[in-house]
Amino acid sequence: MGYSRIPFKSLFEHLPGVEVVVPPDVTQDIVKLGSKHSPEFVCLPFKVTLGEFINMIENHNVNVFIMSIDCGPCRLGFYAPIQERILKDLGYDVIIIPIQQDDLLDFQWLDPLLKLTRVKGKVMRLFDLIPAIRYSFVKGSYIEDIVRLEGLIRCREIHRGDTTKIVSRLLKRLDNENDMFKLHSFDQVIRTEFQKIPIKRDFQPLRIMLAGENHVVLENFINMDLIKKFGEEGIEVHLGNSLYGWVLHKLHLNYKRKNLERISKPYIPIDIGGEAIWVIGHYIQSQEEGFDGFVHIYPFTCMPEVTARGIIEGQSPDPFYLPVQFFAFDEHTGYEGMRTRLEAFIDLMKANRENNPKFQGVYVEPSEIQEMYGKSNKYYKFNNFVEHVFNPFCDMLSMIKKPQLLKKTPKNKNE
Ligand code: SF4
Repeated sequence: MGYSRIPFKSLFEHLPGVEVVVPPDVTQDIVKLGSKHSPEFVCLPFKVTLGEFINMIENHNVNVFIMSIDCGPCRLGFYAPIQERILKDLGYDVIIIPIQQDDLLDFQWLDPLLKLTRVKGKVMRLFDLIPAIRYSFVKGSYIEDIVRLEGLIRCREIHRGDTTKIVSRLLKRLDNENDMFKLHSFDQVIRTEFQKIPIKRDFQPLRIMLAGENHVVLENFINMDLIKKFGEEGIEVHLGNSLYGWVLHKLHLNYKRKNLERISKPYIPIDIGGEAIWVIGHYIQSQEEGFDGFVHIYPFTCMPEVTARGIIEGQSPDPFYLPVQFFAFDEHTGYEGMRTRLEAFIDLMKANRENNPKFQGVYVEPSEIQEMYGKSNKYYKFNNFVEHVFNPFCDMLSMIKKPQLLKKTPKNKNE
């Protein structure tokens, strides 16, 4: 699932006795392979992951798979047993080990990890797991940072492609970093690398929030790399989903998600699966924060996301007035079919910025841009005057004043 392979690889390769084979990037052939052997009506992530399993069996000689499952109200809970059944019916000798991620605080997810490690003794095995979990957690958090900065910086880059190069360089470096000491200061590496990208400092781009079903949002091949496409059109992209955020949520530590649940409650009071609740929360929050648009992406036939779409459309244009674009993906989706809608959506947001008072004067520059690139050059001449004339003049005055400020040491009466 996109860059998530980096923390998952770390999790398992630190377990003694486990050899990890990282799946290659998803391709059209893999999607076709999975679709060919899946029920037609099933959701796209099922088809894609099935295609990945078959590819790994056929081309990489792998027959043991680890898959996270959930017993939520949608189909994810049935993926592992049904896919295993399909693969066995096709004649493959496979094992799919499910990892229960319904509530990570019940620690059921530790069981498969404990079974996989070759270390003897339960206590030793638990100790063994600590570095593995630590590596994957830390790497997951850095991926979230990299993707966030990617969305903020690509729209400002002066030379097209700079951000893409830096992102792939950083991901490769993060993947290969196995020194925990260096990993703890990796945020500095991320910052330094991104700072190398020359940007249009005073540009106030259109801002969108992109959210939806986890697999589609996090797998760039499936979502046609929408983050990059919007970024190259000069749109600042904020992503609503991340693997790290999801894991924190399952540990009951993601207070951003708790807030989204709170604000979406009047429209969707119960969890219906997928990301429905949080999508609506993101929509409301983005509207309140003055975003220019909202992009909702999901697999075709995904029940929870289609319901979320219905709720958003049902409240539009009042009270939900933030422009929204829905993209549903299946194995037949091609970018050319989406291009016109994407361009029309951008034109609509531009027109709003120019003519609609609701979208004017509400842009807030992300704090990361200020921290990394300093203050805006908007008042360059004034700032330059202050920096090079006014401040040195004040310093000079203070230097003249200094001796006067020094108090004479009172003479000792006895001297
Ligand atoms: S969230 Fe949607 S796509 Fe994902 S498993 Fe559930 S129904 Fe399928």
